[in-house]
Amino acid sequence: MPDDVICLAHEAAHVLQTLMSGHGQMPPVARETCAFLGELILLEHVRETAPALFPALACVWHRENEAYLGTDVDVLSAALADPQVDYHYRQNYPLARLAAIRMFSQGRGDWLHALFGAGHKGMRHLPVADMANLAAEVENYLPPLPQADPERPALDAYRSLGAMALIDIDYWEGPSQTRIEDYYAVLLRHLQEQTAFVALNEQRKPIGYATWTKPARGNGVILTRQAAPFGNHLALQRALEKHLGTKAEVLARHNRSARQQQTAW
Ligand SMILES: [Zn+2]
Repeated sequence: MPDDVICLAHEAAHVLQTLMSGHGQMPPVARETCAFLGELILLEHVRETAPALFPALACVWHRENEAYLGTDVDVLSAALADPQVDYHYRQNYPLARLAAIRMFSQGRGDWLHALFGAGHKGMRHLPVADMANLAAEVENYLPPLPQADPERPALDAYRSLGAMALIDIDYWEGPSQTRIEDYYAVLLRHLQEQTAFVALNEQRKPIGYATWTKPARGNGVILTRQAAPFGNHLALQRALEKHLGTKAEVLARHNRSARQQQTAW
């Protein structure tokens, strides 16, 4: 039966991973990633060498996703939402299934051998950071800003204001819920004092903005807001560093921090 063939590939991969790791224990997510890779390797092999058998096996693989990427995700979400929920082995399957698909998509390479032989260090071989970035990548739908026109600085200022408002609508955390006249007055003052900065990407789309205040003494600045709704926090910070120059001491004011002020970088 096709189910048994897939099951056999899964268990054979477990055996192989145990042997290649010198019988060392491997964390569950990593060992299940190995087993799911075994299934994918079998599917690819069957597609090339016995294409008539492929549809039935592919059908099993897709049907099993309903559990691994369906009900098992519910099991995992329930555990994440409530620390009292008991550990269940199925909680490992969603991440392992996705990691296997992601790793398999990069094609043949040394990575497969390295993962199977990694034993208790198995998790280091999974593309977890890569997958997290992928999940956080939200499409930036904002329109590109035209080049600045030195003849008409007011127009540029209002464009910046519009970009900040659109960013805030997406970013939440306070400002988008304030009264419009207060919101406008605060940002207008920042623009007049030149204590606001909108960061653009290569297509000149706004990716985030920051505002700051300057203390009476010293050449430092205190960041009062950093908003980057599309996951470009680091790019915003780098652009801001360049804009402010590295000499200025930069402090960030975190609303939810006990220490109120912290060195930003
Ligand atoms: Zn397994």
